[in-house]
Amino acid sequence: MSIKGTVGGLVLNQAMNYISGDPEKNLPKLLGWMEKVLGDNIAEGQLKVFHEVVDNPDNIWHPYIMDLFRDIDNEVLKVFFRNMAINATYIGFHKQQELAEQLGCNVPWAMLIDPTSACNLHCTGCWAAEYGNKLNMSYETLDSIVSQGKELGTYFYLFSGGEPLVRKTDIIRLCEAHPDVQFTAFTNGILIDEAFADEMLRVKNFIPAISVEGFEEDTDFRRGKGTFAKVEKAMAILKEKRLPFGISCCYTSKNVEMIGSEEYFDQMIEWGAKFCWFFTYMPIGKDAVPELMVSDEQRAFMYKKVREFRETKPLFAMDFWNDGEYSEGCLAGGKKYLHINAGGDIEPCAFIHYSDSSIYEKTILEALQSPLFMAYHDGQPFNDNHLRPCPLLDNPDQLVDMVKRSGAHSTDLQNPEDVEDLADKCRNAAENWAETADELWRCSGKCAGCAAGDKQITA
Ligand code: SF4
Repeated sequence: MSIKGTVGGLVLNQAMNYISGDPEKNLPKLLGWMEKVLGDNIAEGQLKVFHEVVDNPDNIWHPYIMDLFRDIDNEVLKVFFRNMAINATYIGFHKQQELAEQLGCNVPWAMLIDPTSACNLHCTGCWAAEYGNKLNMSYETLDSIVSQGKELGTYFYLFSGGEPLVRKTDIIRLCEAHPDVQFTAFTNGILIDEAFADEMLRVKNFIPAISVEGFEEDTDFRRGKGTFAKVEKAMAILKEKRLPFGISCCYTSKNVEMIGSEEYFDQMIEWGAKFCWFFTYMPIGKDAVPELMVSDEQRAFMYKKVREFRETKPLFAMDFWNDGEYSEGCLAGGKKYLHINAGGDIEPCAFIHYSDSSIYEKTILEALQSPLFMAYHDGQPFNDNHLRPCPLLDNPDQLVDMVKRSGAHSTDLQNPEDVEDLADKCRNAAENWAETADELWRCSGKCAGCAAGDKQITA
């Protein structure tokens, strides 16, 4: 840890102790002091936003912030702010930028790693049920990825799978070995029990994002009877122990209306989730079902609903495809993140199963300088309209071009898929979305009577 990081951590520690004594009273006071000390170093716009949230009890984010101090274990919250605000966003981000400029390639803010292809469930249509226990990354490999990443300034690591908590002992070991890093995992939640929650409290730097896509009937139909009750139990344990968690939801043509409903948002808040991550169904792999892809009306519906609920519901919601306007388009290829699958292939994104680099043959830095990652670097953003960010979903010809030019191969763990075949499945959706997205982009979908923003779902 650098001196800047240590001093920043100490100041943050003191500030958090002070706020948690009485957040309603002490947070506005602290903001006042910060204004005096930092003066012109805080942008006026940022200051206005802070004041609006902190001083106005009617602002929807006011109770959210205050509840964080009441609902979350104080030590866990301190570690989260230190690792995310100071290490990942301040120190890490500057290092990434410096390196990116010096080396002329992308340097990621986050890495997504699959420690295993194994899963403890047998969901209908999921490859992991059949493919199962074939691939597991050793602890040493996981540790090496995180250590290499920290050298690049990357302090945020996410796990997916398979079911990443099949490897929960190694994940806790990594949390212990890298206390300055924030870890999270996309998990079905079933393996979260009292003992694991106690381990989370001990290490303090692990936050799960539990995959739930609906209520009891839908969940149990897809994942097996009794699954929903087990997931709810896991969330109750986390809430009771004052541990933060989020929800991840994949919306499809069949469930988008329910996922984007007020009832479901309220349910996630009731469960105790502090954030929610939305993904849309992608027709990846030979067994994919393109009919599950959302229509342009359905995608516009989610665009509108997420923005509407951000102003009315105390839940930090992110929409992986429809939030391209905040990230200046596609995040992949190391621009903000990259993915390493359970076989060690270093992929630009969790949804792009093509690679020209393996963690067993190259360093992460070498992978970032490989032809595929450089094609991402040189091609980003893939569209001037950041509501059409994806080289696959929204601009499929660009993915075909990058994969062919770089000589990358399919890394689909079950059946290799030709990139042309994959792109063909996305072309219709891309063309249909282009018209709606261009309309939304022109007017942000907020104008009264906007045809795009007001589109209703038809499924
Ligand atoms: S490749 Fe597509 S899915 Fe992946 S980060 Fe970029 S826009 Fe998102």
